Amino acid sequence: MARRVTVIGAGVIGLSVAHEFASNGDEVTVVADQDTMETVSSVSAALWFPFRSERSELADQLLARSLERFVALTAESDAVVRMRTGTVVERLADPDRSWTSHLAQFEEASAAQLPEGTTSGVRAALPFIEIPRYLPWLKARVQSLGITFEYRTVASIKELANESDLVVIAVASSSAATKASTRSVGRSCGSRILGSKSG
Ligand SMILES: Cc1cc2nc3c(=O)[nH]c(=O)nc-3n(C[C@H](O)[C@H](O)[C@H](O)COP(=O)(O)OP(=O)(O)OC[C@H]3O[C@@H](n4cnc5c(N)ncnc54)[C@H](O)[C@@H]3O)c2cc1C
Repeated sequence: MARRVTVIGAGVIGLSVAHEFASNGDEVTVVADQDTMETVSSVSAALWFPFRSERSELADQLLARSLERFVALTAESDAVVRMRTGTVVERLADPDRSWTSHLAQFEEASAAQLPEGTTSGVRAALPFIEIPRYLPWLKARVQSLGITFEYRTVASIKELANESDLVVIAVASSSAATKASTRSVGRSCGSRILGSKSG
């Protein structure tokens, strides 16, 4: 049976989560006080480069899946994601290279490829997400799935209890909504999934 899912937040995380639930047949509403192109997401650069991400089986699955999905998008006509080859440079003696375990191919940068002040680097082709094009594209996809948008501030998760079976907080940083929540059952990228009824 379709669940009534409310996603708080219309940034890249909120839209992505909404897309996945709606694709799964759930009835999704996105509630946000800033529209997508006003969010922090709209000003970010977006290279698939999950530096110092959580190390867990679930995080590894998510990283592998996101890489696979972004690479697949590069093949679409008028693609909003492109593969870019370059050097990720490092200044630390012991840089986090865990993300490279997901790449089929990468190589150590030679000294000649490293700018002054850096100690090492990785040469690789990575998905580059063109945010000014990607976000409108993602929003259009989300809208085509019949997702409803409401523009207002959520002060407390309790406001949504009667209208939702599941609430996902995708607001990036702490806000009144996250502070008011007490039943966090999941966490990813600063966002939370809360069961308001069935959770
Ligand atoms: C300059 C810059 C470069 C970056 N580069 C990268 C990069 O290369 N790769 C990368 O992975 N990340 C990068 N980031 C980080 C990335 O932008 C953020 O992690 C990401 O945008 C967070 O997305 P989000 O959807 O969680 O939050 P946001 O985009 O901040 O959206 C939050 C949403 O929640 C809503 N909201 C918040 N509180 C409430 C409330 N109480 N009621 C209703 N709605 C609410 C807002 O209205 C908004 O719609 C960069 C960030 C910056 C600033």
